Amino acid sequence: MTFDLCIIGAGAAGCVAAITAGRNGKSVLLLEAKDKIASKLYRTGNGKCNLTNLRMGEDCFFSDAEEGVLQRLSPMDAAFLMRFFEDLGVVLYARDGYVYPRTEQASTIVQALQTELSRLSVTIKTGVTVGSIKREHPSAGPFLITDKEGETYTSEMVLIATGGLAGEKDAPGDLGYAMARSCGHSVYPLYPVLVPLYTSPEEISLAFGVRCHAQLTLLVDGKEAASESGQLQIIRNGLSGIPVFQISHLAGKALQEGKEVRILVDFLPDVQAEVLAERIETSVKEAGEETLGMILNGLLHDKLIRMILALYDLQPEMKVRNFLEKREDAEAILHDVMLSMKSLSVPVTHTGDFTEAQVTAGGVPLKEVTKEGASLLQEGLFLAGEILNVDGICGGYNLTHAFLSGIQAGNACSLYPDGRS
Ligand SMILES: Cc1cc2nc3c(=O)[nH]c(=O)nc-3n(C[C@H](O)[C@H](O)[C@H](O)COP(=O)(O)OP(=O)(O)OC[C@H]3O[C@@H](n4cnc5c(N)ncnc54)[C@H](O)[C@@H]3O)c2cc1C
Repeated sequence: MTFDLCIIGAGAAGCVAAITAGRNGKSVLLLEAKDKIASKLYRTGNGKCNLTNLRMGEDCFFSDAEEGVLQRLSPMDAAFLMRFFEDLGVVLYARDGYVYPRTEQASTIVQALQTELSRLSVTIKTGVTVGSIKREHPSAGPFLITDKEGETYTSEMVLIATGGLAGEKDAPGDLGYAMARSCGHSVYPLYPVLVPLYTSPEEISLAFGVRCHAQLTLLVDGKEAASESGQLQIIRNGLSGIPVFQISHLAGKALQEGKEVRILVDFLPDVQAEVLAERIETSVKEAGEETLGMILNGLLHDKLIRMILALYDLQPEMKVRNFLEKREDAEAILHDVMLSMKSLSVPVTHTGDFTEAQVTAGGVPLKEVTKEGASLLQEGLFLAGEILNVDGICGGYNLTHAFLSGIQAGNACSLYPDGRS
């Protein structure tokens, strides 16, 4: 049987594309390498699926689209996506603009997709890893889609919705990119984003496990590139948490370009530097039997105090008076310790790898596909989701793009060949 549309990858983009094309009367074959559809969705938003956000701006996305990602997706937007899921019976709610299913279970979204795919009689084959696509004749006729076992499927159109490389240990890898390349597409360099950032001073690990509110400033070649605040997590040899994820795209790109990347961490964004300086001066004047740990107590988590002191070769157990007697520059060092609480300069040596990342930056250039995801290089080929050169910051933006580009592609397939723009 020749299907109207074969979708490779039953993730966020592939499932909604199948639903959209199915609703438009197309016969759809959905091929998925894993043993169930939309498996990544279960892990999104810490299992709650942050599917979109009430605050949408072009500044939430990175891509090569001159007109901007949202502009390309319009008239579809977050409200459209919310209606899409509400029409599938999913009750949604927003917290600080982040939109989730009311159940706070990502499985609700997967179940809704599954039910609609069944209602539309979309043919789903799981456990099928597609290895290649080619045409019967180089530029015309149906596509032949061959899986790793050598089984071939035939379809008038193909949508590659194989996602990226991020967050998967047993993923089918970069086959989707290879297929896009085999159809003439290029692929911008891929790198992991929404990912921890690693650093060189081993002392950072002394604060392993600490979570605290902090303000981060990303410096690229000494210039401020971004600033974020939120809950920072200290991990082994590195930093993680939402504010780190938010700056990870720019940090990863700069590292790829061989630039110097640093993060200034302000562990006390609500406390003025002068207040800290006064505290040190008083402690020095009144130095008695107190230890360094005692005079700094209450400012930061004690593991952070130990870590910052270690950077100056000091320990919390040292007596302030002894330290002042031993070192001429002791007072200046204590001031530097205090300043480090406001702006600890952390060199970034590398980002986490794809298994630690949530999203893949880079991919097939948007300039090689129409706004609706139709390939400009291969008639009848479409691309949607993370395989495209689009990534968003944390907050539901990646799923927004995956879902909306999937719906767009599903619509475009339905109009093919007339709908090709
Ligand atoms: C831990 C984690 C949490 C996240 N949380 C959020 C969040 O809360 N909000 C948000 O917006 N984004 C989040 N993301 C990002 C978001 O999940 C992705 O951007 C989105 O799923 C991309 O959709 P997609 O359809 O393009 O790709 P995917 O959802 O990755 O789907 C691609 C599918 O294609 C299949 N496939 C690949 N190659 C082949 C092949 N050769 N043959 C057959 N099948 C193939 C894969 O198995 C996969 O099922 C998170 C990501 C991770 C890893």
